[in-house]
Amino acid sequence: MKRESTDILICGGGLAGLVAACAFGHAGYSVCLVDPTAPVTNTNHEGADLRSTAFLQPAHALFQEIGLWEALAPFAVPLQTLRIVDTAGTPPQVRDERAFRSDEVGDQPFGWNFLNWLMRRELLRHLVGMAEVDLRFGTGFRSMLTRTNEAIVTLSDGSRLSAGLVIGADGRNSVVREAAGITVDTTRYGQKSLAFVATHAVPHHNVSTEIYHEGGPFTVVPLADIDGKPASAIVWMNAGRRSLDLAAMETDAFNREMTLRSAGLFGEMALASKRAVWPIITQRSDRLTAQRTALIAEAAHVLPPIGAQGLNTSLNDIAALLDAARASAAAPGSAEMLAAYEKARHSDIARRAHAIDLFNRVTRSGDVGLQNLRLAGLKVAHDFQPLRRGLMRAGMGPL
Ligand SMILES: Cc1cc2nc3c(=O)[nH]c(=O)nc-3n(C[C@H](O)[C@H](O)[C@H](O)COP(=O)(O)OP(=O)(O)OC[C@H]3O[C@@H](n4cnc5c(N)ncnc54)[C@H](O)[C@@H]3O)c2cc1C
Repeated sequence: MKRESTDILICGGGLAGLVAACAFGHAGYSVCLVDPTAPVTNTNHEGADLRSTAFLQPAHALFQEIGLWEALAPFAVPLQTLRIVDTAGTPPQVRDERAFRSDEVGDQPFGWNFLNWLMRRELLRHLVGMAEVDLRFGTGFRSMLTRTNEAIVTLSDGSRLSAGLVIGADGRNSVVREAAGITVDTTRYGQKSLAFVATHAVPHHNVSTEIYHEGGPFTVVPLADIDGKPASAIVWMNAGRRSLDLAAMETDAFNREMTLRSAGLFGEMALASKRAVWPIITQRSDRLTAQRTALIAEAAHVLPPIGAQGLNTSLNDIAALLDAARASAAAPGSAEMLAAYEKARHSDIARRAHAIDLFNRVTRSGDVGLQNLRLAGLKVAHDFQPLRRGLMRAGMGPL
């Protein structure tokens, strides 16, 4: 039997894998994407991804470049103001707050918010119309054999495929990474994050709010109203045990806890979705590439959900991999192309991981000295204008 072949095999149909398929398909390469699980594209279905993502300006540029932005724009909620609130005590009381406004550093918003499940739905709609892209849900990567000019991959249905480049976009427990012999370095914080949607009495006025307290931030990302009530996507970080208790709590009690944790800034809050629990880790693969193989997104790096850096860092991977493919005279997957990708991304990922790891350690601490440092840091970062502008630019683009 003749073996099938493709320029690029993408393993993993999470948000990163789907965007990579759009990017390489749009550039004219033949792409096959495999994932053992079909994506959930309805908020009420089991397994729906209830997180939201603020896509920052470089992500917007990538979406425009690969012809995606038009499909996504109708669902984008611009992020123009970021409000940081420092709280202390039990229940949390506001000590101080500052607002960072995107119009201070340009005429574009910091980014655009999307619900993750909705983003998946729109990406799939777009991909189904692309002749270059072959989507195979229900089939996963099983193993591979690489040599100088190709990778021969065995899929979970037993079929074999020859690819010039295998992209591992198969998440934090990547099997592609393991098959390529790439190891990871993992830091655990004993923290978990709850992600859910809530309605609230006080409108959000399209402002994203991060409320700091020991345990980690409580992040409120504006969404469109639900049944006429203001609504937001919430990410609530805590010590692991506390997050599990909150996830299991009866709804009325949970609503009371949430209203207290938000320091009453949004009035009465009410749960409007299921609650998902995510472990918080920092994880980095030692390398991004191996023969005929490139890792992107959570297969390569997992960051705590602070400052909207996780998936945005992943999109920077995709942009760099695409650039490396285009710049290379050879077909995708050559040693030269992979070296260019490794060089373009290695230090940026390391810098972001270190910065967010440090920020997480300082901001979640219950130590009074570190809590005061957190408050002083917020004031300095905001009130010293050149630093404020520098930080806003760094948060949006390269560090
Ligand atoms: C609470 C929370 C909030 C966050 N908020 C933000 C934010 O505001 N901004 C931001 O930029 N980032 C954010 N992030 C990070 C972001 O959500 C993740 O980086 C992103 O969803 C991970 O996408 P991924 O495609 O890398 O991995 P995944 O979504 O895990 O996708 C991996 C895919 O690989 C598939 N797979 C597994 N095994 C195989 C196999 N053998 N073969 C083929 N496929 C396989 C899986 O089925 C899955 O579909 C947040 C993270 C958390 C935890």
